Amino acid sequence: MFDKIVIANRGEIALRILRACRELGIKTVAVHSDVDRDLKHVRLADEAVCIGPAASADSYLNIPAIISAAEVTDAEAIHPGYGFLSENADFSEKVAQSGFTFIGPSADTIRMMGDKISAKKAMKKAGIPCVPGNGNPLGNNPKENLRMASDIGYPVIIKAAGGGGGRGMRTVHTEAALLNSISLTKAEAGTVFGNSTVYMEKFLEDPRHIEFQIMADSHGNVIHLGERDCSMQRRHQKVIEEAPAPGITEEERNRMGKLCTDACKDIGYLGAGTFEFLYERGEFFFIEMNTRVQVEHPVTEMITGFDIVKEQLRIAAGLELSMTQDEVTFTGHAIECRLNAEDPTNFMPCPGVIDQFHMPGGPGIRCETHIYNGYKVPPYYDSMIGKLIAHGDDRNSAIARMKTALMEMVIEGIKTNIPLQSELMSDNGFAAGGQNIHYLEKKLGLS
Ligand code: ADP
Repeated sequence: MFDKIVIANRGEIALRILRACRELGIKTVAVHSDVDRDLKHVRLADEAVCIGPAASADSYLNIPAIISAAEVTDAEAIHPGYGFLSENADFSEKVAQSGFTFIGPSADTIRMMGDKISAKKAMKKAGIPCVPGNGNPLGNNPKENLRMASDIGYPVIIKAAGGGGGRGMRTVHTEAALLNSISLTKAEAGTVFGNSTVYMEKFLEDPRHIEFQIMADSHGNVIHLGERDCSMQRRHQKVIEEAPAPGITEEERNRMGKLCTDACKDIGYLGAGTFEFLYERGEFFFIEMNTRVQVEHPVTEMITGFDIVKEQLRIAAGLELSMTQDEVTFTGHAIECRLNAEDPTNFMPCPGVIDQFHMPGGPGIRCETHIYNGYKVPPYYDSMIGKLIAHGDDRNSAIARMKTALMEMVIEGIKTNIPLQSELMSDNGFAAGGQNIHYLEKKLGLS
């Protein structure tokens, strides 16, 4: 096992990684921007290094500064968390070239999966069902593009090959709008992602978002930890996640889980990963793979008792997976509510000082957050300030526990989305389970 690692992230995930390190007896180095000195994990880490000013580009995305921090502290490995550099192939490569272990897959794997076109190709080849559409980059021939759309059938969606975070997509309902939409998406993709390549696929009108968690070690062992339902979304971003996905049968879980683990073997995958699918009328369609730990990993941990972050560290250190597929069991149901520092009516970020914070508790409640009384939420980063996770024997009991926990939780001084999450826990549609990805926006009157 490693002696010391660098945590190249901030907020709740940095704290989550620090806790896993403590359990494994690994020393930690927190790297942080100059406005983040008061982050909880920075205070708790064995060492802390300031890597730059507030702007992410100068700190959390500053590859040379992070690698220098690993050098001066004599660390052995770097955990990238999620977001920031976690899916940056150049970072993974430079970390390895500098003699450190990147806690995640190889640069080649990240590169292949980071480009949605090459990811789709690799997955098709590995026998994973994909959203209809040939997945090739769109050229400039209007006739060909119009033909492709009519072959797929409207509505279609134009997606940026390098897209992420729910951005770089445009739905097209009519032939008249196609060519203009392609040009607009290309231009946007070029500006936002530095890669103007776009592709076309069928726009599924009524899907759910269902994803499979996998873990692969360096000895050729791969397991899946079942699926999560992340259909409660706003602007293509997840708001609530749960496991297992309502209505998914054991047969579907085993079949899709096996397809995913086989695909991992096929591409020589290493570490934690997630296969994201759209699920419509009993069929799964691959959309993308995330080559990192995900925000919603705790719901899987709660129903399997498997520690995904500890396992990431073990795998990176060259150890074998701590469980075989046969040993993976699923118990009860877990739901996660993302907690954001935002106005619940207009979703505008609400940074500021937290005057009062009381954490909820009780059976089955887990709170992953870095906030504390007096902590100042800075305006420079994502507005997520934590996650509340509730586990119960079944879905209804998880919902009941979540409702109580949301009611108990006190965050004063800033606005949060707790009122919205409470409302959703009492929503009949959510209670019924199995809603599609458009449900939340429709309920909020946003679409
Ligand atoms: P990102 O990398 O930006 O997260 P994804 O490809 O994972 O993008 O898609 C994010 C979300 O966008 C999905 O969960 C779904 O809500 C929507 N989406 C993506 N592709 C399609 C599609 N072909 N049809 C319908 N919705 C889609």
